[in-house]
Amino acid sequence: MDVRMRIVGVVGAGQMGNGIAHVVALGGHEVVLSDIAKERAEQALGIIRHNLERQVNRELITQDEMDKAIARISITDNLAHMKDADLVIEAASEKENIKVAIFKELCETLKPEALLATNTSSISITRLASSTDRPEKFIGMHFMNPVPIMKLVEVIRGIATSEETYKIAREFVSDLGKDVAIAEDFPAFIVNRILLPMINEAIYTLYEGVGSVEAIDKAMRLGANHPMGPLQLADFIGLDTCLSIMQVLYEGLADTKYRPCPLLVKYVEAGWIGRKVGRGFYDYSTEEPTPTR
Ligand code: NAD
Repeated sequence: MDVRMRIVGVVGAGQMGNGIAHVVALGGHEVVLSDIAKERAEQALGIIRHNLERQVNRELITQDEMDKAIARISITDNLAHMKDADLVIEAASEKENIKVAIFKELCETLKPEALLATNTSSISITRLASSTDRPEKFIGMHFMNPVPIMKLVEVIRGIATSEETYKIAREFVSDLGKDVAIAEDFPAFIVNRILLPMINEAIYTLYEGVGSVEAIDKAMRLGANHPMGPLQLADFIGLDTCLSIMQVLYEGLADTKYRPCPLLVKYVEAGWIGRKVGRGFYDYSTEEPTPTR
C-alpha cells in the first residue's frame, strides 16, 4: 500500500462508490465513504459486506482480510469528515452541477496536499478540475463496474494535472491490483466513447422495432460474442448514467451521431433507470429478469 494515500475518501455510495470503497479498503487504506443520504451509505456497507463474503466463500480472500477491510471503512453524510483524507475519489451521480458542488464543499475541508480524483464516465476532467482550488492535484480515475471484478481503470489527466499527481494516481491504482489504460481528456474518454454509442444504437434498434429486447441482446451475445447483451448492460450501468454520457458526447463533440435515443430519454423520464431500481429494459422483480418490450 502507498503510505502517502493512507486515508481515502469516497464520495457517493452508489454502485460505483461501494465498489471503489470495497477495493480500496481491501488494499489496506482507511476509507471514509459518504453519501448525501446516510441510508445510502449504510446500504452500501451492507452490499460491501455481502460482496466480501462472496469473495471469502470463493477463497479469493480470507475471513481475516474481509474483517480488516470492513473495519477500515467508516460512513458519513458529512464531507467535513474527509478532512484528514490524502485522496478523495468522487463517485456521485453523473451530473456536472452535483460534482462541482461536491468539489467546492470538499475544497473547504481538505488539507492542501490532498489529491482529488473523479470517477466520472464522461465529463471533462479539465473543467471539473477548474472548479477546485487544486487543478494540478486533480485527476480522472475511471473504475469499471463491478469494481471488485473489473480489471481496468482509465486514468485521465486534465490539462493542469501535474506529473506528480499522475504518477501517484497510477501507482495507487496499480497497487489495488488494477490495470491502467491512459486516456486523453475528450468526452467519455476511451471506453464509453466506444461503448455508449453502441448501447444507444441498440436502443434505437428496439425503438424502431428491428428486434425485441430479447432478440437484440441474444443477437449481440451469440452473434458478436459479447458476454452480456447491450440492453442488459445498459440496465446494469443505469439508464440515467447512459443518458448523461450520451448528452456529454452529443454536446461535447457536436455531432448528431451521438443523439440520445428518444426511448432512452423516455425511460429515464419514467424513472425506469435499470437494475438499481428494479426496472429498465428488464423487470427485475421476478426471479429471472423479464424483458419489458
Ligand atoms: P448511482 O446512481 O448508483 O450512485 C450515485 C450516488 O451518488 C447515489 O448514492 C447518490 O445518493 C449519490 N449522490 C448524489 N448527489 C450526491 C452528493 N451531493 N453528495 C454525495 N453523494 C451524492 O451511480 P453510479 O453508477 O455509482 O455512478 C457514479 C459515478 O460513477 C458517475 O459519475 C458515473 O458516471 C460513474 N461510473 C458509473 C459506471 C456504471 O457502470 N454505473 C461505471 C463507471 C463510472
